[in-house]
Amino acid sequence: MIEVENLTKYYGNIRAIENVTFRVEKGEVVGFLGPNGSGKTTTMRILTCFMPASSGRATVAGYDVFTQSLDVRRHIGYMPESVPLYTEMKVTSYLKYVSKIRKIPRTQRNSRIDAVLESCGLTHMRNRIIGQLSKGYRQRVGLAQALIHNPDVLILDEPTIGLDPKQIVEIRELIKELGKEHTILLSTHILPEASMICGRIIVINNGSIAGSVTLSDGRITSVQSSEGEMTTLGESEELYVEAKAPAEDFSAAVAKIPNVIDVQTAGESADNHPRVYIDYELNTDIREELSNLIINNGWELLEMRPVEITLEEVFLRLTTE
Ligand code: ADP
Ligand code: MG
Repeated sequence: MIEVENLTKYYGNIRAIENVTFRVEKGEVVGFLGPNGSGKTTTMRILTCFMPASSGRATVAGYDVFTQSLDVRRHIGYMPESVPLYTEMKVTSYLKYVSKIRKIPRTQRNSRIDAVLESCGLTHMRNRIIGQLSKGYRQRVGLAQALIHNPDVLILDEPTIGLDPKQIVEIRELIKELGKEHTILLSTHILPEASMICGRIIVINNGSIAGSVTLSDGRITSVQSSEGEMTTLGESEELYVEAKAPAEDFSAAVAKIPNVIDVQTAGESADNHPRVYIDYELNTDIREELSNLIINNGWELLEMRPVEITLEEVFLRLTTE
């Protein structure tokens, strides 16, 4: 749905992005994650035909953003970083105005407006003056205008920036809902936000793509660095365990529990208590057997917790190489 190849953009002699390459497939909800100043907005402005790149190419829905910008704009809904809303207008008047600009046939305008008000949870605010809405509701108006022409692709630039925690949760839910019907590329510098909403995250740092991360229900399943190095995660489960027991006996006994793949020593505490990482088969649970083993041997369990790689760790690994 979105194909970006070697995009480079200079503002004068400031290089904003360099050789940015990525794809977003139809139906995906992809996060564009990077610190402030990493080039997210620049990339999105190029994709939405707001400005040309210095070099490289990009297509949206098969149309070239440089040579077929009218077609691209028809297929894209864009919510810019700061949504330029007409604050003195009522919600519906504003959406009518946007639908005129979008050249939605007069006969369809009202039903499109009703539809986007509904899907953005704005129906009860339709007659309010935009300037008098809370920031969260203004953000919803921003989403509504991006959806008015029912585009295949939504490009959302930091959609939760400046919102309070409750509004953030609501907008995230709304985006997840929209993700069922649309292909979405959304930028954020908030790591938990990316893992909550997205099925895949493209990490951008200092104007270049550092890698990408796939997730399933917020859990990281694979990491690919831009050098092509691929790490598949989620092939096993892992527990960290500390017990009061003779270290060698403990490891040997744990290794015999069904579904255990590997037991690695994480070091011993000052009084020789074993601390181990236990890898075991996906979709199995060894905790009951493990605690029985410890009890039956008269040992004691001091700590047991699942080990999961966090997006923070992945992000640091990708951006510090
Ligand atoms: P992000 O959206 O990830 O915060 P931007 O795309 O806004 O990043 O910015 C990328 C880089 O380009 C930054 O170094 C920024 O200072 C620079 N930049 C952005 N817009 C302009 C501009 N209009 N003129 C000059 N430099 C710019
Ligand atoms: Mg930005």
